[in-house]
Amino acid sequence: MKVVQIPLLRDNYAYLLVCQTTNSAAVIDPSEAEPVLRRAEQEKVDLKAILNTHHHRDHTGGNEGLLANRSLEVYGHKSDEGRIPGLTHPVEEGDDVVIGEEKGKVLFIPGHTTGHVAYLFGSNLFCGDTLFTAGCGRLFEGTPEQMHESLKKLMALPDNTKVYCGHEYTESNLRFAMTLEPRNHKLVSRFERVQGLRSRGVSTVPSTLEEEKQTNPFLRWDSKEIQTSLKTNAPGLRLDPVSVFASVRKLKDSF
Ligand SMILES: [Zn+2]
Ligand SMILES: [Zn+2]
Repeated sequence: MKVVQIPLLRDNYAYLLVCQTTNSAAVIDPSEAEPVLRRAEQEKVDLKAILNTHHHRDHTGGNEGLLANRSLEVYGHKSDEGRIPGLTHPVEEGDDVVIGEEKGKVLFIPGHTTGHVAYLFGSNLFCGDTLFTAGCGRLFEGTPEQMHESLKKLMALPDNTKVYCGHEYTESNLRFAMTLEPRNHKLVSRFERVQGLRSRGVSTVPSTLEEEKQTNPFLRWDSKEIQTSLKTNAPGLRLDPVSVFASVRKLKDSF
């Protein structure tokens, strides 16, 4: 399977997933239609489906335009019927998604929204606005408990899983992470590497799940350094995983 990254709007990423045996393709989270159609044409692929991770407009804004002159399958969580334009294939945890000869799985990962899903094709994880490179999505509709559960589900995937998220936020996420865990060497070197890439306008997505486990503060509720940093501001903070996660999320909301 080939993955083609398409930068859209200010900092969104859509992805073309191409089955190289049949030339069939699906697009993940098209914010806009035109650039996706252009890219599909350049790549000479046959666009068959839209896979939406959640209902936000910056992930579904291109659905209508793509459906205007052609019929495509549209996937999204079943609870997002009425919120995802053109939904034809309502899915839930464990469902299969087939593109040509490539088969992917749906993971239900609520928290950012109540109907958020990820699509896993082999070692490629398309996780929308749930897990970001070095960050996680805001809790617009879900609870810290839900988001923590969803992130734990993603962390159980193999370390070499590639994390394809919905936005280019890595540098600012790492700047925040550095305030909580400045003595984490892997974090420091990732921050330097990412600053270098961004100064040249290079994409920092995908990362690997291993890198996220080592440096993403939203997955590091067990880090003593992060716990100590949080305690400085909130001495009464409980140190169970959900409380630590919720506290990091709250700090990031106002960073
Ligand atoms: Zn979103
Ligand atoms: Zn988004």
